[in-house]
Order: sequence, then C-alpha cells, then structure tokens
Amino acid sequence: MKIIEGYKLLHRNNYTEYQNNLNVRVIDVQGIKIGGNTPVIIAGPCAVQSYEQTIEIAKAVKKAGANLLRGGAFKPRTSPYEFQGLGKEGLEILRQAKNITGLPIVTEVLDPRLVDMVYEYADIFQIGSRNMYNIPLLKEVARTQKPVILKRSMSAGLQEWLCLAEYIALEGNLDIILCERGIRTFPCKEYSRNTLDLNILLPLREKTFLPIIVDPSHATGDAKIVPFASLASIQFNINGLLIEVIKEDDNVEDILCDAVQGIKPSDLDKIVKKINYLYK
Ligand code: PEP
Ligand code: MN
Repeated sequence: MKIIEGYKLLHRNNYTEYQNNLNVRVIDVQGIKIGGNTPVIIAGPCAVQSYEQTIEIAKAVKKAGANLLRGGAFKPRTSPYEFQGLGKEGLEILRQAKNITGLPIVTEVLDPRLVDMVYEYADIFQIGSRNMYNIPLLKEVARTQKPVILKRSMSAGLQEWLCLAEYIALEGNLDIILCERGIRTFPCKEYSRNTLDLNILLPLREKTFLPIIVDPSHATGDAKIVPFASLASIQFNINGLLIEVIKEDDNVEDILCDAVQGIKPSDLDKIVKKINYLYK
C-alpha cells in the first residue's frame, strides 16, 4: 500500500472496492448498520445525571426512532469545578438503560487507564474532540477492537483528522466512525458555540471509506439550530447523527452539562420523521 497523505489504511485509493466510488465501510453494531443504506440516529443526554433522567430519555429517544443511546459517564469539562460525570455509576445506569430499551450504548472514554472498564459497558467508544490528538488513548481503545467514534478536534484539518484515525487502524481496528462536531471560527460564542463544517463532509467522503456522522448539538450549541443543522447535514449523505436530548419537561437549571443545546424528544421525533421521508 502506498502512503498517501500520511495515512494509507484509511485511504480509499488503496482499496479496489473503494476506489472510483464513494462506497462506505459498513460497521455492524448489534444488527445496526452504520454506513448502511439509511443514516443511524444516536441520541441521548450529554451526561448521565441519574437513573431516572437517563431511563426517561432513553425510552423517549427509542420511541422517537433512535438506533443507539448516547450518554457521558466521564465528562471532559473545561473547568475542574464543573460536573465531571458519575463515572462507574453512570456506566451502570447506561447498562440498565440498554437492558430496558435494547439500545446499544455510545459513551466517551477519557483516560487510557479506564479503557478496560468502559469496554465492559460501551458498544461503541466515543473519543471526544479534546482527545483526538491523544495517541496513547487512541491506541488503547483501538486494541480492544470495539468500534470507535472519533470526533474531530475543534481545530483539526481533514488530513490531520485522518492521520490520527490511522493510529486506530494501525492496531487492526478499521471500525472507526468519524464525527464532525463543529470547529472554532471567529464568530464562535457570539451566536453559536462552534461552526458546523458542512464543507468537510464531501472531501472527507472522497478521501476515506469510513462512515461519517455529524453532531449538530456541539456544532451549534443551540437547541433551536439543531433540527436545521441535522437536516442540512443529512443532505450531504452522511451515515448518521449524534444528537443530545433532554427530558421533555426538563428545567435548564437541572441540567448539569450542555443544557441549552439539548433538544426535546418531540423535536427528535420530527427530525427522524423528516429523515425517514427522505430515505423512503
Ligand atoms: C459530548 O459528546 O458530550 C462531547 C463532550 O463532545 P465533544 O468531544 O465533541 O465536545
Ligand atoms: Mn455534550
């Protein structure tokens, strides 16, 4: 294989089945096909806060048509004084949510020392934006051979993102899902948290066969923009969405992490219906 642009295991041009087309590798997670014919919906709270909150949201997103449940038990907060997640207790709650709803679990791992623990609960590891460059963590997660969502760093270019994903591939794990979650640009914080980089989606598709998903929640930071950002992303033939959802009657003061960007289950329901209509 030729080393093209710093990554070769993930470059389309190195595979006859992915050359000269835009085919996507299908990653099967308990029967859910990421990279299959229809986009997958991964939805749930930013952070697991309690049993009651997580189960209520899990049931609601399932009813709205989500395929997988997201939820952070370990949260990468900017300030050390902010809620850091429930840790192992949060993972236990996610397991119960899976038992009740049947939805496989997507959850973030922050620390190479905790990979073995999170492995027991996660169906897909999430590597967050802040850890895209954490090579020891990438390797440790990759060696488990479990599927990985690799979020784009808020300051990474396309090639840089794929080079870091290549570290996972080099451990023999090609079950990598790339997640665009917004980048930092000059108007950030003025009217949105980050800037959703829709422009990267097609060039990324042309470079690699990995499934691509979009996180409209962190990309915008605003629940009212999320439905529009979701549908706009879908127009780029992405393979899924990762969306933060709050309880239907949640109070912003009760939400310990990313309160203003979480959408209600009824809004998720509308997004899913629109996507289903496009794909019917
Ligand atoms: C998250 O998904 O809750 C999260 C922390 O995302 P990111 O790493 O993209 O900021
Ligand atoms: Mn969040």
